[in-house]
Amino acid sequence: MPENSFKKVRTRIAPSPTGNLHLGTVRTALYNLLYAKCHDGDFLFRLEDTDRERSTEEFTNEILDGFEWLNISWDDPSSEDAPEGATMTGLVEDNIIKQSQREAIHKNYIQKLLDEGKAYRCFATKEELDALRAQQQANKEITRYDNRSRSVSKEESDKLAEEGKAFVVRLNLGTDRDITWNDLVRGEMSINTKDLGGDPVIQKSSGQVLYNFAVVVDDFAMQISHIFRGEDHLSNTAKQIAIYNALGFSVPEFGHLPLIFTQDKQKLSKRKHGDIASVNTYKKQGYLPEALVNYLVATSYTDETIGEVFTVDEAADEFEIDDISKSPAIYDIKKLNWFNREYISKLDYSDILSFCKDFSKYLLANTKYDGDKIKLMLEGVQDSIDKFEQIDTHIGYFFEDFTVINEKEIKTLEEGKQIIEKILILIDHDGINFDEPASFKTGLDTIGKILKLSGKKLFMPVRIAISGKTSGPDLGLIAHLIGKEKIIERLRIAVAEAVKTA
Ligand code: GLU
Repeated sequence: MPENSFKKVRTRIAPSPTGNLHLGTVRTALYNLLYAKCHDGDFLFRLEDTDRERSTEEFTNEILDGFEWLNISWDDPSSEDAPEGATMTGLVEDNIIKQSQREAIHKNYIQKLLDEGKAYRCFATKEELDALRAQQQANKEITRYDNRSRSVSKEESDKLAEEGKAFVVRLNLGTDRDITWNDLVRGEMSINTKDLGGDPVIQKSSGQVLYNFAVVVDDFAMQISHIFRGEDHLSNTAKQIAIYNALGFSVPEFGHLPLIFTQDKQKLSKRKHGDIASVNTYKKQGYLPEALVNYLVATSYTDETIGEVFTVDEAADEFEIDDISKSPAIYDIKKLNWFNREYISKLDYSDILSFCKDFSKYLLANTKYDGDKIKLMLEGVQDSIDKFEQIDTHIGYFFEDFTVINEKEIKTLEEGKQIIEKILILIDHDGINFDEPASFKTGLDTIGKILKLSGKKLFMPVRIAISGKTSGPDLGLIAHLIGKEKIIERLRIAVAEAVKTA
């Protein structure tokens, strides 16, 4: 157990249901989960649904469904070691803590800080604050709240509150000082309170307790010992440490993870990049959850002993914070597709079939092929599927005729016209046994010898002619599945096309 005052390692993920489940949230969850697992600790889940206007049931369900799909689950948050004052209020089904149900607790702590003079009411109006900002801008100063309401006496503050004057509650950060912590990922961190925009608001005038405050109260109640989250939370961490100290709670350890950026060096976001940021997209397109999980961990994590392809359990056994990269993770769809192909290629046939069926109009309406042939077909394309959504582009030619329109491919047909003609003659002379996939290749090799051609030059025109594609399963397998009659028809069409364009 790393050094701090907590009895057990407890980590958590605390998503806000104000948007889709973001890849970054899942990645953060995974590092928290791995850290907890590797220290025999707990990984917990809290739904931060206090922003009433922006939180929705729909996003809540999407987040929970997403985690379920990814096979990421969390532990029971109740704890025998819970300190005095900590309560599991808000614990609902499935070990979820709902922050919105803890509002009364948050407010009690706000009141405690007010009573102790560690927080104060700020009655500054919007106009006043706008004027302050305008003045600071004119003076080319950094805009920040100037802590003016610190000096309002307790009597005056109580009187104004009683009169019904609107106020927010701010934490008194005291005289300027460095807030420091030893970040688990980034090392020594120091942020001066003067860079935090003035005393932070912890409760809005509507009475809503703000994130930085609620998060501290809840992490304390859940006895969270280690918090991994994105480095966009660095200044929040400084504020939260000040809140922990004001409340007299033990401060957990923090580790700030590099964010995910796109290739053009922008932070991956729904607003800028749309659906690629959201987990649901990958579920809908037929990615395997294990592949997405592996990819997300691997974006910022390299461990030589486990290599690139690993399960959560394998990664947890070896998990080392030092193996987390400090530079931004780069979203790379090619890499994700590589992981997905790796995982698809290892699937059992029954799984392949059921995934393919979910995504294929051809398989749904199939009356052409029996089960054995479908198996040969799907096993033939299994290694080249990036995602199941693509399945029909890989198997369409088994079910439907096609027209070659790509100029380069038409040219290949033209150049290979002789090969195609010769294979037609061979078929005509019963030189190819269609029940025997290897026979087609033997026939083609013989033609290659006669024409002194081999490799792509020999195979590609035939492949294009019978499948309309430049890659795919073994040609003999394609011929076997499609059958003699159809193959002859397609080869003849290809010759005719080649003549037309020649
Ligand atoms: N609800 C916050 C978010 O989604 C949690 C951040 C944290 O881990 O403290 O960004």
